[in-house]
Amino acid sequence: MDLWVAEFQTPALKLSCKVKETLRSETTEYQELCVVATEEYGNMLILDGAIQTTEIDEFVYHEMITQVALNSHPNPQHVLIIGGGDGGTLREVIKHPSVSKATLVEIDDRVVAAARDFFPSLSCSFEQPKAEVVIADGIEYVKNHRNHFDIIVVDSTDPVGPAIQLFASSFYQSVYDALKEDGMLVVQSESPFLNKNVIDMAFGGIKQVFPLTKLYLANVPTYPSGLWSFTVGSKVHDPETIKNTPKLDWKYYSPEVHKAAFALPNFVKKIIEPGE
Ligand code: SAM
Repeated sequence: MDLWVAEFQTPALKLSCKVKETLRSETTEYQELCVVATEEYGNMLILDGAIQTTEIDEFVYHEMITQVALNSHPNPQHVLIIGGGDGGTLREVIKHPSVSKATLVEIDDRVVAAARDFFPSLSCSFEQPKAEVVIADGIEYVKNHRNHFDIIVVDSTDPVGPAIQLFASSFYQSVYDALKEDGMLVVQSESPFLNKNVIDMAFGGIKQVFPLTKLYLANVPTYPSGLWSFTVGSKVHDPETIKNTPKLDWKYYSPEVHKAAFALPNFVKKIIEPGE
């Protein structure tokens, strides 16, 4: 019998994948967690019905949510990741030679456990000497730090459940305060086709707080519509200007991709600059 898993990307749109095996299905304190082995995308992590990461296409998202800020900041040393309990973002941050410490703050320890059990190529990062894993609410964590981090990456779930406040202006103000005087924030801000409301919340909220706000794009096949956006808030450095390019084994990111990612189609420009 064929077994398929389907994500409702909208109430009228599904992405379905053929499943070899269900590896885990549980209700955690925060969400419904499921890991399935799929035919096309390898092991897939699903939270509350939304695909979070897959073994086959994770590199696009994890390289692009990290390397743009890491390479446009002249000397990123201490990086905070909020969410990202699968470990992929942490893996990319600690690869960067100037980073001396990366702190991952994930609210749900069962996500970290699932990553350890089923995503070894992501969770390998947890044991690295530069890495620190904290199980806590990222919102409270940033409130307790001032002038502390060079870069903060918000690798969150959609704005539902424990992640709702991660898209609020008050949270972006706490992040601003937790960053050093030339710090940068990067968040995943979802699909310009299907989640304009999320871009409005993230880009609009960050723009209220940071002097420089820019949006860039990448193609992530398993995310709704495939076209994914990221928003950077920066106190000083322009995220489009590359300041350092360590020679790392990137599969998607390159200095050329970095520059191209900021070239926005007109319909995306209209989302972030509605009056122009
Ligand atoms: N790349 C993914 C995506 O866009 O679909 C996100 C991956 S990562 C698994 C998202 C993580 O954010 C989840 O594990 C979730 O538990 C965590 N999270 C949600 N709200 C949080 C909060 N307030 N503090 C810390 N982590 C949070």
